[in-house]
Amino acid sequence: MTTLQQSVDLTRSNTLRLPCHVDWYAAPQTLSGLQAVMHEAANRRWPVTLLGGGSNVLLPPQLHGIAIRPSFQHWWLESCGNDVVAYVGAGVNWHSLVMRLAERGLWGLENLALIPGNCGAAPIQNIGAYGVELKDVLLGVQVVGLKSGNLRWMDRVSCQFGYRDSIFKHQLADKVVITQLALRLSRQPAPRLHYGDLASRVPASPNPLAVANAVCTIRQEKLPDPQQLANAGSFFKNPLVSNAQAARLLQTYPDMPHFPQPEGLTKLAAGWLIDQCGLKGGREGAFGVHERQALVIVHFGGGDRRELLQFAGRIIQVVLDRFNIELEPEPRLIQA
Ligand SMILES: Cc1cc2nc3c(=O)[nH]c(=O)nc-3n(C[C@H](O)[C@H](O)[C@H](O)COP(=O)(O)OP(=O)(O)OC[C@H]3O[C@@H](n4cnc5c(N)ncnc54)[C@H](O)[C@@H]3O)c2cc1C
Repeated sequence: MTTLQQSVDLTRSNTLRLPCHVDWYAAPQTLSGLQAVMHEAANRRWPVTLLGGGSNVLLPPQLHGIAIRPSFQHWWLESCGNDVVAYVGAGVNWHSLVMRLAERGLWGLENLALIPGNCGAAPIQNIGAYGVELKDVLLGVQVVGLKSGNLRWMDRVSCQFGYRDSIFKHQLADKVVITQLALRLSRQPAPRLHYGDLASRVPASPNPLAVANAVCTIRQEKLPDPQQLANAGSFFKNPLVSNAQAARLLQTYPDMPHFPQPEGLTKLAAGWLIDQCGLKGGREGAFGVHERQALVIVHFGGGDRRELLQFAGRIIQVVLDRFNIELEPEPRLIQA
């Protein structure tokens, strides 16, 4: 049976260390446990907030209702010719899964090493890094309807994945709990090393573990460890602008990083835009822009969500004034 805990402090359960108390909290480890908690929440008319590792959320000081953290730890592998399908419970830590599969010589997840959080949240924003996105390896997800309690599988197409986006941020936002992922991995060598300087960091014929370790090293050089300095990774999404707007900007800033996308769009680097505005390393009160990575807002302690949003708002305004581009925060704003 899953215990319901009353008045729980979630400050250390989110990587930005935003102070937050929730009325009720539960961490079911089985599907039936989850369904029982959902039933109880519905009976008591509690608003439900789903939580994983808390690495991509902006929590309010007081969260009403219940926070449910699906904590299913099961995973298993099934052979499928040269491929292997991994079935993974929502509560499995993403990075430890990546490393365990890489150690077994299975290709697919190695570029996504060291992304914090749990597997259940990975499809929400279609996590991505070093030229790979979750959608490249995901076969489907098992979900439970928050109201109905019904279980069903959704294939990759019905998840409507985009850049840091999926149906779980739109039509299905706060309507389903992701309980399990199915991921397709390969035994055949399939290194994807085209992104950044990854190729120069691995041996000539690397195995998945060598790639995963190289990704970890690069990330540790560039990103602050939330255990040492509170943060939520990239605070802003890289903006998509029209090709025409990108071309105009390139006339003034010929060195501006830009990445052509389908449908007449160009992706720009939000970190570069912030850096150009001279904001890297800047601090106001409890929050600052990280000194090595302008995309990351860090929390030095003592601040709350209101102050963070004010700080982020000022960054958005400065970038808007200079480039006429409105940056959009990446972490999810959780309703009080
Ligand atoms: C240092 C750092 C580096 C990062 N680097 C990257 C990166 O390279 N690429 C990248 O894409 N992201 C990155 N992130 C963001 C973050 O790690 C991912 O978005 C991750 O998938 C969030 O997982 P989580 O378990 O912490 O989710 P949480 O932050 O707990 O939740 C995120 C959202 O998912 C919902 N949710 C959680 N679990 C479930 C579930 N089981 N069912 C339905 N909804 C659920 C929550 O309600 C919330 O809306 C980084 C974050 C940090 C702190």
